Amino acid sequence: MQYKSRTDLDLASETQHSGNRSPSGFPLIKRSRLETLQANLGYRCNQACSHCHVAASPKRSESMDWQTMEWLLRFAAQHDIKLFDLTGGAPEMNEFFRDLVVAAREMGVGVIDRCNLTILSEPGQEDLARFLAKQQVEVVASLPCYQKENVDKQRGRGTFEASIAGLKSLNALGYGVPGSGLYLNLVYNPAGPSLPPSQDSLEAAYKTQLSSEFGIKFNQLFVMVNMPISRFEERIAANGQLGEYKTLLKNSFSSDNLDGVMCRSLISVDWRGYVYDCDFNQMLDMPLKHGDSERLHISALMAKDISGSAIQVDGHCFGCTAGQGSSCQGALVA
Ligand code: SF4
Ligand code: SF4
Repeated sequence: MQYKSRTDLDLASETQHSGNRSPSGFPLIKRSRLETLQANLGYRCNQACSHCHVAASPKRSESMDWQTMEWLLRFAAQHDIKLFDLTGGAPEMNEFFRDLVVAAREMGVGVIDRCNLTILSEPGQEDLARFLAKQQVEVVASLPCYQKENVDKQRGRGTFEASIAGLKSLNALGYGVPGSGLYLNLVYNPAGPSLPPSQDSLEAAYKTQLSSEFGIKFNQLFVMVNMPISRFEERIAANGQLGEYKTLLKNSFSSDNLDGVMCRSLISVDWRGYVYDCDFNQMLDMPLKHGDSERLHISALMAKDISGSAIQVDGHCFGCTAGQGSSCQGALVA
């Protein structure tokens, strides 16, 4: 799929959604109905990938406590939240991960586990795949390529083989198998500062390659744009590519993506319980604004309706609206 590149002049002349813009040039947008609570359970991870926008690693110790998780559960009940989207770091490394999943499922709330696949074979996590299947947790798993060298380069040596082993163990439990009710979706992000290819054509290539070489099945491929923040920003800045990449994202702006950006229907909660419009804003320490408070804890939002409130946007938001768009559920336009 080809995307028409847009100049700053084109951007300025667009009228839809563009009555007001932030100083970065990104349109000012507002929340709609809240459906998903995305919780970052901590920054500890068994990997330390070069593109990681949360700079997670085995050395990080930040971790959500149970008291904060209880606030998440109360908030979900109060606001009729449909979905918990659990992320990290490796969310499964949080000691209360399983308690939170069980409690959410008992309330009828769906759960997504953003799983790096290699965690499934870490010591102490051997029964993780079975636990996820039993709780009917949707697994969204990073696999930036179907070729070993590309995956190991981005995510560390040995990652590809461990990821394939993880996918096979999930398939064996029914994940990704049509009719099983167990959803296994993969995530692709480019290795460098470029836009991802068409989600549909890349999904077809992934399905063909993973099936023929390893017998692996999965439901959908989500392609995501690398955000120019945190570790990825540092890496491309060191290579002198940051300015060019930001220009690419801005010039690839498509207003068709504005209605679907994830911050319209999601809040992101950090490991301490503070609330943001999305995970990227969390990493940039741009808290959700509601009323006069500089920073809101989830406990302070309990009785508040935030639909219609302004979303904190800045230049990084062009990463969500470039080309086919990018969100936690992949591309925004077909
Ligand atoms: S697996 Fe995910 S959370 Fe962990 S370092 Fe890699 S990108 Fe970051
Ligand atoms: S970066 Fe966050 S706030 Fe900006 S458009 Fe994307 S989801 Fe919304």
